[in-house]
Order: sequence, then C-alpha cells, then structure tokens
Amino acid sequence: MVDRYDVVIAGAGPAGAQCARDLATRDYDVVVLETEQEDEFPRQSNKSTAGTFPSMMSSFGVPDDVVMSYTDDVVLESPNSHYKSYQPGAVLEFAEFKRFLVADGRENGAEYRFDSRVSRPILDDDGVIEGVRYNGDEEVYGEVVVDATGPAAPIASALDVVDLERENQAIGIEYEMEGVEMNHPEYADLRRAMMLRLDHDIAPGGYSWIFATGEDTAKVGLCYIQNDRHREFAQEGQTVDGYLDAWVDRDPRFADAETIDEKVHRGSAHIQMPDEMHTDRFLAIGDTVPSIDPLWGEGIHKGMKSARAAAATVDRCLTDSERRLDAESLAVYERLWHRDVAPRMKSRLMLTRLLYLAPNERYDQFMRDLRQAEENTLEKANQGEKASMAKLLHLSDVPLLAKFAREHLGS
Ligand SMILES: Cc1cc2nc3c(=O)[nH]c(=O)nc-3n(C[C@H](O)[C@H](O)[C@H](O)COP(=O)(O)OP(=O)(O)OC[C@H]3O[C@@H](n4cnc5c(N)ncnc54)[C@H](O)[C@@H]3O)c2cc1C
Repeated sequence: MVDRYDVVIAGAGPAGAQCARDLATRDYDVVVLETEQEDEFPRQSNKSTAGTFPSMMSSFGVPDDVVMSYTDDVVLESPNSHYKSYQPGAVLEFAEFKRFLVADGRENGAEYRFDSRVSRPILDDDGVIEGVRYNGDEEVYGEVVVDATGPAAPIASALDVVDLERENQAIGIEYEMEGVEMNHPEYADLRRAMMLRLDHDIAPGGYSWIFATGEDTAKVGLCYIQNDRHREFAQEGQTVDGYLDAWVDRDPRFADAETIDEKVHRGSAHIQMPDEMHTDRFLAIGDTVPSIDPLWGEGIHKGMKSARAAAATVDRCLTDSERRLDAESLAVYERLWHRDVAPRMKSRLMLTRLLYLAPNERYDQFMRDLRQAEENTLEKANQGEKASMAKLLHLSDVPLLAKFAREHLGS
C-alpha cells in the first residue's frame, strides 16, 4: 500500500513543527520526517539561543514552561559604549521548546517519524514532486511536500527552488555559562537583558551576545558571515570557537565564569535574499528559504510565521473544489511571505551589509547617535524604513557608503 498523506514535512524545527501544528489543527493528514532520534531530540539541532518576544509567544500559544528567563531590555554594545532600550522579551530553553511543538502537534493528530533522514524528492512523469525518499529507499507520498530542514534543504535544492550560497552562510557558537558578572561596573546592567555587541575584535563581520538566563547565568555566543567582510577583520587561522574562547578569556564579566557541562550550541543560517520559495506541490519554509532576519538573526518567529503562511496556503488550495496545487495556485504563499513574514527584506539586508562594513569606531558613534535619536528611530530603521536609516548616517559615512556601493551595486 502506498504511504500517503495530505502533507509531508521534512524537518521538525520551529518551522516544520509549527506547520504540522497548524495543519493538524485543521484536520489534515500530516507527517513530519526528522533526521534525529526521538530519545535524544534535539541534539545537533539544539542550536539556538532562542531569544524571542511576547508577540511570538502569544501568536503561537507557546507556554511559559519553555521559558528560561524573561528580559526587560535589549542592549546594543560597541567596543566603548552601549545603548539600552526597553523591549520585553524571553529566552527559551530551545530543546524544550522544540519538544513542546512536537508534542502539541501530535496531540492534534500530526504524525512524527524520527530517525528519518530525507534525501531527495520523488518526481512523477512530468517532473512534479509527489513524495520524498528517506533513509535510503523508504518512500512517503503527499499532495504537498514542505522542506523545513533549515540550511540542509535537500528537497528545495534538488528542485532548484533555493540556492543557499556558502558566501552567505553565517556560523554561530554559544556556551551556556554560570558565574557571569551580569552587572559589571564597566558595562550596562545585563541582569534582565538580551545584549548584542558589535565589535570586530570579538566577532569580525558579525556580532556577539550575552542573553541573561538568571542572576549570574547567561547564554554567551557569537556569529559571523564567512564573507569578505569577515576576512577583512579576521585573524589568520582563527576559528569561530577560537573567537568565542578569546572573548571569554579577556572580558572581565567572565573572569569567574564557567561553561555549564555540555551546554554548547552551534549552527548556521544563510543571510541572503530569498529567490523562489515554492513550485508545483512544493513549499520551502523557515531557514530553508531563508526566512531568518538578516540583521539580528531572529529566525524562530520568522520561521514560524512562514510555516503559518504555508499552512494557510495549503488549506486554501485544498478546500477549493478544484484542489489545485500547481505553482500558480501556491504562489499566494510567496505573497504572504513578503507581506507578513519578512517585509522590506531587501532594505534590511542592505542595512545589515552596511552595518558589518562599518569599523569599530563607527559602532561607538552609532551608540551615541541612538541615544540622541527619537526613541523609535532604531525600531523604524530596524523595520527597513529608509528615512530612519538615513537619520543614523553621517557625512563622515560617505566613504563607507561608496565602498558599499562598489561592492554591492557593482559601480
Ligand atoms: C547559534 C545560533 C543562535 C541563534 N539564536 C537565535 C535567537 O536568539 N533567536 C531567534 O529567533 N533565532 C535564533 N537563531 C536562529 C534560529 O534558531 C533559526 O532561524 C531557526 O531554528 C530556524 O528554524 P527552522 O525550523 O527553519 O530550521 P532548523 O531549526 O534548522 O530545523 C531543521 C530541522 O530539520 C532537521 N533536518 C535537517 N536535515 C534533515 C533531513 N535531511 N531530513 C530530515 N530532517 C532534517 C533538523 O534536525 C532540525 O530538527 C539562532 C541560530 C543559531 C545557529
């Protein structure tokens, strides 16, 4: 008998598991194939700092049990300065959060197959996907297939829907630490904060972070995109682990701190403009698109929003009397993605590139400007509003902008 579902989802990350939740709630037959084994899930995929905001928690019914700590502020730090803004948030226990999404989906009828590594699409005579192959020669068929495997993207790549480029790959590593001095006299009070630091000496062409998880415990990490910007500021031969160790060694806030046993998380995501994200009977969601916010790496909420847009699209197509699932009918997903998931992605990518191009001294100036600017300037610039971005630029940035134009506009 053919193993067949309405929807086959590859990957039980925030995006895949949320898509399954939404579809199961609407009574579709959905199966999720996850490469990791259930008894240790998530292991390798337990990669995220999982800082998020109340809007995500309420939109997706995420319970307080998976929250490690609530935070009041977001702090931006530069080598010699900082800027603090009141923005309540939550740091999740990412593994528990992932397990919650799976359990909740199952309660609503979603089926999960762990230890199931998806390798490639099964195509019909017209070259349209009708299922996936996993664990060698196992097969499962669906009306629609969703690739939610994050940067692995085996189906989306095979169908030529996405092309995740190494040049745009950001890599990150993080330690969970205890004994961190969260209110050090030389720095901002981080006891209830998520802090992001722009400093090429610590994370060349990227940023580092301290997210409070308790009075003296925190998630401490860094990431950067492995591109020219990184190479310009990088030290020869240094690895991402080496950069984090070097920061932990020299920042006084970690003088008495230790890494909590085995609490090391690492992973990657691509920071690039999505091209296509669907074709006949197929949708890519989450980091496979990629949906992650380029500027600050907020990928959980974005991925879950993309999952919801995909589920709504499938629902709409399957409730229509014609049940058409060709690329044209599924195109509504891309429209929803650009409208609701990541509006102004292009401007935000531009801002990201500009930000990482700036030297350390400019970061100090940036903090001073933010303190003087109207309260919502950062928020608006963050949303990709050009007028607010312009407010944060100076005449002295002209060489920077010229360099940016040379590199990105080819002039
Ligand atoms: C170090 C780091 C820190 C981060 N911090 C934050 C943060 O603070 N806040 C935030 O919002 N975001 C953060 N992110 C980003 C966020 O974690 C991702 O954007 C999010 O996890 C993407 O979800 P996803 O479901 O698309 O993909 P993933 O989380 O990558 O999930 C993919 C799933 O697919 C499975 N899989 C992979 N290949 C296969 C296959 N062939 N077959 C079957 N299953 C497969 C994986 O095991 C995994 O379970 C961080 C990322 C990293 C790396």
